[in-house]
Amino acid sequence: MTNYFRRAYAEIHLDRARRNIEKIKSLLPEKTKLMAVVKANAYGHDDETMSRLFNSMGIEHFAVSNIHEAEKLRSYGIKGDILILGYTSPEYADELSKYDIINTAVSYDHAKALSDAAKSDIKIHIKLDTGMGRIGLRNDTPQETADEVERIMALPNIKVEGMFTHFAVADSDDEGDIAYTKSQRDFIIAVDDELKSRGINIKNVHFLNSAGGTYYPDDRSALARFGVMLYGLMPNSKKALPFELEPVMELKAEVSYVKEVKKGSCISYGRTFCAERDMKIATVTIGYADGYSRLLSGKAYALLNGKRAKVVGRVCMDQLMLDVSDIENVKAGDIATMFGIDGEEKLTADDLADLYGTIGYEIICGISMRVPRVIMDGDRIIHVIEYRHTEK
Ligand SMILES: *Cc1c(COP(=O)(O)O)cnc(C)c1O
Repeated sequence: MTNYFRRAYAEIHLDRARRNIEKIKSLLPEKTKLMAVVKANAYGHDDETMSRLFNSMGIEHFAVSNIHEAEKLRSYGIKGDILILGYTSPEYADELSKYDIINTAVSYDHAKALSDAAKSDIKIHIKLDTGMGRIGLRNDTPQETADEVERIMALPNIKVEGMFTHFAVADSDDEGDIAYTKSQRDFIIAVDDELKSRGINIKNVHFLNSAGGTYYPDDRSALARFGVMLYGLMPNSKKALPFELEPVMELKAEVSYVKEVKKGSCISYGRTFCAERDMKIATVTIGYADGYSRLLSGKAYALLNGKRAKVVGRVCMDQLMLDVSDIENVKAGDIATMFGIDGEEKLTADDLADLYGTIGYEIICGISMRVPRVIMDGDRIIHVIEYRHTEK
C-alpha cells in the first residue's frame, strides 16, 4: 500500500515519534528513566502501535489511566512496568496481580481496601497530593505523610514499589507558578528524605511529567512520565521547548464537492456565513463526530494544495465547508489536511486548540474511533487500524 483514501483518517507517523523520543531522552538525567504515558489510546495515536514502538526502543515503563487500558497493553505483549495513574476499584484486585499491573493508591483507605481484597501481592505506587488537588495523600508536613506511607507499607498483600506526585503548573513561566512547582517538588523529596532517615527506601520516587522533565529535569525523579511530547505536541503552546518536536498525528479528509456560489449565498446550519462576494466553496468529509470541534466553525483553516483554506459556516456532524476561492484546481477527491503538513504549510493541533480555548491534548485525544489510524513510517503505509473491526 502506498496511499490510503477514505473520508477521514488520522496518519500516525512512527519515524517522527522515534525522533521525538531521542530528543526527549537527551533531556533527562542519566538516573531518570522515561515512562511512556499511553493513556486514552496513546493520546489517540493507537496504544498498541505506540506502546510496541516504545517497547522496541527500550522503554520499559508505561502509564495508563485505568485497568482496562493496562490489560490491553498486556494483551499486546508489552513487557515491563505498567502503572495505572488513576483510581482503580479494589474489585479489580485479582486482575491487578494476575496481569502484574502496578496500581496507584490514592489514599490510606484505598490502600487498605486493596489490601483487604487482595489474595496475593498487589504492586502499588503511593500518590501524594502536593498541590494538584486531585488524588493522593494530603498532609501538612512531610513527617505526617511519611507516617501515612509507613502505615500503607505495613498492610498485608501490598508491595510498595513507588511514590509519586503530579505537577499542576510546570508548564508556566509565572513566578508564583515556578515557586509552586518547586514547593511540590520539595515536598515529595522531603517525604522521601524522611523515609530514608527511617531506613525506608522506596524504589521509584517520581514527579516529572512532560513539562516537568523539560523545564525542571531532576535526577531525584526516578521516572519521567512523558505523554504529550512523545506525540510531538507542546505542554504549553506559548512556551518554547529546547528543541522542535514533530507532531506524530495528521488529520485528513476528502473533498467531496466543489462549487461556485454567488454573493449572498449562505453556507451551512444557522446561516452564520453568507458570501460577501462570489466564492468557490469545497465540502470536506469530516465533522465534529470525527473529533473536529464545532467550536472551530468560522475560525479554523485547513490545508489544501499547500495553501490555507478557511472553514466557513458551521462545522456539521460529518462534513464541513472551506473557502477555496483563492486556491486553484481544487476538485472532488483532493485531500484536505485539517492539521498536519502540506507542502510549505504546517498546521498543528496546538494551533487549532489556541483558536477555541483548549489545548492540543484535547484535540488529539478526541479524534473519534470512527476515524481509521493510518500507521506510517516515512512515506510508507505500514497498516491501517479500523477500530470497528479490531477493537478488543
Ligand atoms: C497524563 C499524565 C502525565 C503525562 O502528562 P503530559 O503532560 O502529557 O506529559 C503524567 N503524569 C500523570 C499523573 C498524568 O495523569
